[in-house]
Amino acid sequence: MRKFAIAVDGPAGSGKSTVAKAVAKRLGIIYVDTGAMYRAVAYFCIQKGISPLDEMSVLSLLDEIKLEIQPTRDGQLIFLDGEEITQKIRTQEIGQGASQVATIQSVRQKLSHMQKEMAKKYAVIMDGRDIGTFVLPQAEVKIYMDAGVDERAKRRMGELEAKGEKPAFDAIRQEILRRDENDMNRKYSPLCKAKDAVYLDTTNMTIDEVAETIVKIAEGKISEV
Ligand code: C5P
Repeated sequence: MRKFAIAVDGPAGSGKSTVAKAVAKRLGIIYVDTGAMYRAVAYFCIQKGISPLDEMSVLSLLDEIKLEIQPTRDGQLIFLDGEEITQKIRTQEIGQGASQVATIQSVRQKLSHMQKEMAKKYAVIMDGRDIGTFVLPQAEVKIYMDAGVDERAKRRMGELEAKGEKPAFDAIRQEILRRDENDMNRKYSPLCKAKDAVYLDTTNMTIDEVAETIVKIAEGKISEV
């Protein structure tokens, strides 16, 4: 049976993963980063020399992709064919590739099935683009997290700089806009706010403030159960 679930959706760089990890710790539930799964598929394709845009080739390899998600105290580890690739997939190139493979219906079916299975096993906070609308439409709590594009680009810059990279602000901003465009306009499960999701504009909020807001909403729901 499905356990208690919090669905967090929103555009690239809106702070979903940082906040979701903090909420998972506070509530003692499992954090599932579904973006990492799309990134892993893109990584697999690029490694095999296949363009993430080449739908026929991606489909022909889909069954070979052996993904494993391992929840940890601080987030999740992701394995591809037994190799841990959690950090390797956090690049701009893989992010863009993820957004391309994410337009393919069979890729979405394979990954959303895995995501639903995780929500049967664990109480989760799951972040992505279609969690409240498609993967976990019955989630007790649904959040749509947004922020202005400049603020999102600034946050992405901060993350990349913390890893020792020196990204150009304009390039990051463009990349985010391109991904928004892909994610909001694709045919299957486009990014949109579920009707019953709480809309949070986090542009002027700290991570702690957003996490606190979600914890309060979740605690209210848990006490109703
Ligand atoms: O969240 P993250 O930036 O890691 O996601 C990478 C890409 O994966 C997104 O731009 C989106 O295209 C895709 N994605 C998706 N559905 C999800 C999670 C991610 O389409 N549930």
